[in-house]
Amino acid sequence: MYDVQDCVTALGPGVRFAVWTQGCLRRCPGCMSPQSRPLDGGTLVDTRELAARIAESGREGVTISGGEPFLQAAALCEMIELARAERDVGVIVYTGCTLEELQASDDEAVHRLLSLCDLLIDGAYVEALNDGKNWRGSSNQRAIPLTQRYRAQAAEYGAKPASVEFFFGEEGVRMVGVPSRELLERFRNMKF
Ligand code: SF4
Repeated sequence: MYDVQDCVTALGPGVRFAVWTQGCLRRCPGCMSPQSRPLDGGTLVDTRELAARIAESGREGVTISGGEPFLQAAALCEMIELARAERDVGVIVYTGCTLEELQASDDEAVHRLLSLCDLLIDGAYVEALNDGKNWRGSSNQRAIPLTQRYRAQAAEYGAKPASVEFFFGEEGVRMVGVPSRELLERFRNMKF
């Protein structure tokens, strides 16, 4: 796991619990979380513990991003199934793969994770296509409802300005969401 954050509103409908997996084989220029890419980084977590945190959070659902979540499909399936054994939890997954690539996979866990996912945001981040819209990094990424759960909300995808939120903790300040290129530039030029 790369990180977790409760009470997130910038990564999908409602108030959500967010999980970022560790490890990604892509090298998208402008990647906003390069620290999540090394396959040997992050923290090992017990899926049972993480599932309990998600269930106890009381949030509408969990948003899973990365890193590349589908590299850890089996563990994520276990986490989702354990959380859903406690209560009804909606699942959104961000992936750098396209749905078609995932459907062509011969990894059974990839298909299982797709079957547990309510809304898939697919496609790699393309910096030049970062249009500053909600719930996405760039306009090539699609919001694909895989169940009825978020079908209505999926229409709001990319229809509003992007938002980011800040969480202050003992380890510092964490920004969640995808800032527009302009906002990112302003952050880079800020003096603290
Ligand atoms: S898929 Fe995501 S985590 Fe991986 S390199 Fe691209 S932007 Fe970074």
